Amino acid sequence: MQRLTILGSTGSIGQSTLDVVRQRRDRFGVHALIAGRNIDELARQIAEFRPEVAVTADAAHLPRLQAALEALGLARRDHPELAAGAAAYRAAAVAPEADCLISAIVGVAGLEATYAAACAGKRIGLANKETLVAAGDLVMRAVAGHGAELIPVDSEHNGAHQCLRAGRRGEVTKLILTASGGPFRNTPREQLKDMSPAQALNHPTWKMGPRITIDSATLMNKGFEVIEACWLFGFPPDEVEVVIHPQSTVHAMVEYNDGSVIAQVCATDMRMPIQYALTWPERLEAPVPRLDWREARTWDFAPPDLEKFPLLRLAYEAQRTGGSAACVLNAADEIAVEAFLAGRLPFTGIAEVVEETLARAGARAAASIDDVLELDREARRIASDMIEERAAAPVAVPVRTAREG
Ligand code: NDP
Repeated sequence: MQRLTILGSTGSIGQSTLDVVRQRRDRFGVHALIAGRNIDELARQIAEFRPEVAVTADAAHLPRLQAALEALGLARRDHPELAAGAAAYRAAAVAPEADCLISAIVGVAGLEATYAAACAGKRIGLANKETLVAAGDLVMRAVAGHGAELIPVDSEHNGAHQCLRAGRRGEVTKLILTASGGPFRNTPREQLKDMSPAQALNHPTWKMGPRITIDSATLMNKGFEVIEACWLFGFPPDEVEVVIHPQSTVHAMVEYNDGSVIAQVCATDMRMPIQYALTWPERLEAPVPRLDWREARTWDFAPPDLEKFPLLRLAYEAQRTGGSAACVLNAADEIAVEAFLAGRLPFTGIAEVVEETLARAGARAAASIDDVLELDREARRIASDMIEERAAAPVAVPVRTAREG
C-alpha cells in the first residue's frame, strides 16, 4: 500500500489524484490532505479518505473544518490530526508514514514542502510549477543528493519522461513539448488587448485552475514547461522546442540522434500521468478514456508565434540568463495574472508587466530556499508597484482634430 500526502487536495490535480486513489484502494491510501480555503471540500475528502493528518492554510479555518466534519457524521475522536500553515505542510510532506508527495498547490506556497520532501528522499509526483521554475537548481541538487524520485505529473513532462525510456540520454538530440495554443491561437494579435478574463479562462482542451488556464492563454505556461523540462531532464533551453498542437493528444516528443522521433499520445485526462507518477516504473490499468483508432482524426502541428506570445520568448531568455531570472518571471506573472483576472490589467499587460519586472529586478544567485522566497517577494513587490503605477497613470484621451470635427 502506497500512502500519499497530497499538497493541494481540493484543487483540480488534487481531486484527480483522489480519484486515482478511489479506483485502486488496494494500492493507494492517503496519509495527509493539505488544502487552502475550500474547507467544505476538504471535509468531504476527509470523510471519504480518512487521512491521518489534514492541514489548512490558516489556523482560523480549523474550527469550521471541525464543525464540517461533525456535520458529516465524523465524531471528534475520528477526526484526523488537524494543523495549519507552512510548517505543517513540511511535516506532512516528510512524515515517515508518507511514501509519496503529490505536489499540487498553486504558487510558491508549495515550494518549501516539496523541497523538504526531496531532502527526505521521497518520491514526488510534481505538478506545482514553481518548484522547478523558481528553484530548479536547488531542488534538482536535493533530489540527486538525497536519492529522491521526481516524477512529473504535468502531461508534457510526463510524456517526455515516457519517451525518454526509449533510448539513452546521450542519444537524445531534442525534446519537443506540445502546446494547445490556448483560446487565442487564432485571435489576431491586435485584438489580444481586448480579451476578457472570461474569454481567457475558456481553455479549448483542458479544465484546470484559473492561474494555469490564463498562463495557457498567454503561452507563459509553455514557457514554464520549457524551464521545468531543462531542469528535470538536464537539457539546455535551445534543445527544448515548443510546437502548437491544438488537439492536445500528442503530449511530448523526443528526437534521437538517428532522426527517429518518439511521441507520447493519450487522451487529455490528468489521472493517467498522476497514476504513472505513483506507479513508475510499473504501469497499471488507468481510469481514463482510450483513443478510438477506428475514428478518423487529424493532428495539426505549427510553430508558436513568439511575437504574439512574448512570454514564451521571455521564458527562454530567463532560462538562458539563469540565477533568479525564472523566479522573477514566475512571481511577476502570478501578480500580473491576478491583476488581469481582477480587471486591473489588459490581457497584453501581463507580458508587459513581466518583461519590465525582469528588467528592473535583474538576476541574482539564490543559495537557499529562503533566498528564493525573498527574491520571489521582491519581484512581486516590483510587479505590484508597476501595476499601481499603470493604474495611476493618466489615460490618454483622443483629441479631436479640426478635420474630424
Ligand atoms: P487549482 O487552482 O485547481 O488548485 C490549487 C490547490 O492549491 C487547491 O487545493 C488550493 O486549495 C491549494 N492552495 C492554494 N494556495 C494554497 C496555500 N497557500 N496553502 C495550501 N493550499 C493552497 O490548481 P491546479 O490543480 O490546476 O494546479 C495545481 C498546480 O499544478 C499548479 O502549479 C499548476 O500549474 C500545476 N498543473 C496543473 C495542471 C492541471 O491540469 N490542472 C497540469 C499541470 C500542472 P483551496 O482550493 O482549498 O484554496
